[in-house]
Amino acid sequence: MKLNEALKDPIFKILAEAGAELGIETYVIGGFVRDYLLKRGIPQDIDIVAVGSGIELAKKVASKLPGNPQVSIFKNFGTAMLKYEGSELEFVGARKESYDRNSRKPTVEDGTLADDQKRRDFTINALAISLNTNSYAELLDPFDGLADLESKTIRTPLAPGVTYSDDPLRMMRAIRFATQLNFEIELKSLQAITEYKERIKIISKERIVDELHKILASARPSKGFALLHKTELLPYILPELIALQGIEEKEGQRHKDNFWHTLEVVDNISETTDDLWLRWAALLHDIGKAPTKKWHKKIGWTFHAHEFIGSKMVYTLFKRLRMPLNDKMKYVQKMVLMSSRPQILSEEFVTDSAVRRLVHDAGEHVDDLMTLCEADITTKNSRKQKKYKNNFKIVRQKIEEVEERDHVRNFQPPVSGEEIMETFGIKPSREIGIIKDAIKEAILEGEIPNEYEAARAYMFSKAKALGLTKV
Ligand code: ATP
Ligand code: MG
Repeated sequence: MKLNEALKDPIFKILAEAGAELGIETYVIGGFVRDYLLKRGIPQDIDIVAVGSGIELAKKVASKLPGNPQVSIFKNFGTAMLKYEGSELEFVGARKESYDRNSRKPTVEDGTLADDQKRRDFTINALAISLNTNSYAELLDPFDGLADLESKTIRTPLAPGVTYSDDPLRMMRAIRFATQLNFEIELKSLQAITEYKERIKIISKERIVDELHKILASARPSKGFALLHKTELLPYILPELIALQGIEEKEGQRHKDNFWHTLEVVDNISETTDDLWLRWAALLHDIGKAPTKKWHKKIGWTFHAHEFIGSKMVYTLFKRLRMPLNDKMKYVQKMVLMSSRPQILSEEFVTDSAVRRLVHDAGEHVDDLMTLCEADITTKNSRKQKKYKNNFKIVRQKIEEVEERDHVRNFQPPVSGEEIMETFGIKPSREIGIIKDAIKEAILEGEIPNEYEAARAYMFSKAKALGLTKV
């Protein structure tokens, strides 16, 4: 099969010329070929295999390109990279690999294209297109990757046990590709992943998290988490989620399975937002339910303060996975901490002051919080489903009204601490805090409007009660 269509970009002629001049066989391989055949558009990143030195080939290519782009060389890996017109070109010499059991780092020897295709993770990633004169644009598919693309199958070129135990990152990649592309992992492969699951321990947290991000960024992330669960990899990665699994029944009272519920919430939210961190919040919003679960004779199952405990667990989890402990983490914590607030609010008669408090506490993230709560509706009872959705609609409307009127979203009290100190001639002290809080409370409660004059008048009345007088 010839794939001239895939090689329309003039860069391929240049690659072919460079290869021919150096007498190095040259092929496009991997993601580019796969995504082209899947009609996912013409991919930006191009992986090139040279039967010979990838670094030499990269240098030659760069010398032929306008502007002579810089070549980054990774000597230890025998690879080179250059950027050209928004594309990243990765060059590697064809290699034959053999693995040591205790690391992902193989012993590498030069090899043929066929050797190189064998060391690829999946048949669909081993597809190559020739850039050589005598076979230009020919598809080289020794493992029937094309058939696997058609049947949407993730399959390894070698026996799955070999592929996965050589480099256990491939277990994560299998699940990630299955999720991203909506493919199925062949049974033998699934079994091998389960068999070698423990080897995931030698993979760095950063790489695992990379794959988790890609799973979460997919259209239906639940597929990936269900596979992590099925293959028994999940306990090594996110034990907090596994702890949510299962239903207990006491005296005829059951609670829902919070693991499967969580996956539904993540899928729901993925229909409305691409924000990775909001998706993380959905994934973690109930993790506090495992350690807080209790049975009470009178009221049944409770998960008291699970939002608070859950938000603390977010920190531990991020830290363990070496994820950044920055504002993204704080955002996820905040979403988890507040995840029940709109619910409680919507169940009662919605007062203005309750809405003002919600908007004040959630600040700029109030819309995200509402999105999370709406995604959290997973009841199969259509009457209830409608009712809950409608309740949140009312809350959203109220938020808009209150926002328009009171501007409490990024609320700064209209009277500052300095002004209080100057007015009453006092130094920094407890009284100032008391007065400021009282003003804030009065505004949130709706006793006074969020305006300077009203706040100043309120300051005087509060100060009087504290025995302060104007200087
Ligand atoms: P994407 O970039 O969309 O994630 P990709 O297939 O391009 O997909 P990369 O991680 O960029 O994936 O790797 C490029 C190619 O290198 C893959 O297609 C595959 O052939 C090979 N490859 C990458 N990682 C591994 C691995 N751990 N084991 C074996 N082959 C791999
Ligand atoms: Mg790639």
